[in-house]
Amino acid sequence: MKTLLVFEYRRGKLTEANLELFSFAAALGAQTAGVLIGAETLLPAYPGKLYLGDIVKCKDYNPEVHADIIMQAAQKEDPDYIVFIHSSYGWDLAPRVAARLKAAQVSEITGVSEGKFETGCCNGKMRRLVRPATTKAVLTIQEGAFCFTGEAEGTPAVEKLEPSADGAGLEFAGYEEPEKREVDLAKAEVIVSAGRGIGKKENVPAIAELAKSLKGELGASRPVVDAGWVDHNRQVGATGQIVSPKLYVACGISGAIQHLTGMRNSEFIVAVNKDKEAPISEVADVMVIADVMPFVAALTEKLKQ
Ligand SMILES: Cc1cc2nc3c(=O)[nH]c(=O)nc-3n(C[C@H](O)[C@H](O)[C@H](O)COP(=O)(O)OP(=O)(O)OC[C@H]3O[C@@H](n4cnc5c(N)ncnc54)[C@H](O)[C@@H]3O)c2cc1C
Repeated sequence: MKTLLVFEYRRGKLTEANLELFSFAAALGAQTAGVLIGAETLLPAYPGKLYLGDIVKCKDYNPEVHADIIMQAAQKEDPDYIVFIHSSYGWDLAPRVAARLKAAQVSEITGVSEGKFETGCCNGKMRRLVRPATTKAVLTIQEGAFCFTGEAEGTPAVEKLEPSADGAGLEFAGYEEPEKREVDLAKAEVIVSAGRGIGKKENVPAIAELAKSLKGELGASRPVVDAGWVDHNRQVGATGQIVSPKLYVACGISGAIQHLTGMRNSEFIVAVNKDKEAPISEVADVMVIADVMPFVAALTEKLKQ
């Protein structure tokens, strides 16, 4: 089995998530080749074949031109799977490449099991296993699901590719900075986060009180933010902030992959949950099996003493 890994280059840098492509290929037990639209002076540490499109010729981002380079690499390698990171780059390009190849596309893969791909469904509450209906497929992998623990090394054997599409009609308008956050959770040493398991908005002050007792910040999972219980700038996760405090306390949070992506690098993780099988138990150093609100009240009281 062969994979073509699509490396990502953004604003003059290779993105961190590129490393997860290696872990994914290893999980499949697949051979690899890579393709990068980037700069010759900044190549991924990788001992295999790398097809390179020049970032200047291919423009920072032009979907027609980038898809063209990836297609050229695919024609040379004939991979079973073309693999992207599920980033804005990957989710824009993967369907374009899949459509050209008339191949199935599977998005946001979080695991591999017996040749099938695990993806989330029902807003992340359930996981399903899928197998592409075509022999070749285009995949995107969820960032954070295939953490790379080794040391990336090696020098790729580079083959340069020239764009054959001109991408006319599309112009790269530039990058837009996200709004400045009022709360920078990335700098917090302690974060106590509220999940849907806290039950109602009226319970948020008790979680904030525990955070205060630990000299920390309040964080939240996405449903809590979506429900308007906590402000968006406190959301932790793939579409919130990426944090790495010394202590992370997850209160009534199941541990969906999108949440784990944002907090799994915390030094010490305490999860309070009534379900001992909740996925957060996979990353928690301490799992407190309890009804969250009475536990939080008791702990805050104890800390105050
Ligand atoms: C594209 C996309 C991006 C996303 N980005 C993010 C993101 O950035 N951040 C994020 O958090 N999510 C994100 N999500 C949503 C994510 O998939 C999950 O739906 C979400 O993280 C679940 O939040 P939760 O754990 O608070 O709620 P739930 O999954 O509903 O979990 C609630 C937990 O509380 C426990 N519980 C219930 N009652 C009690 C009680 N009385 N005492 C103790 N425990 C109790 C339950 O056992 C359960 O484990 C994203 C989803 C998508 C599709």
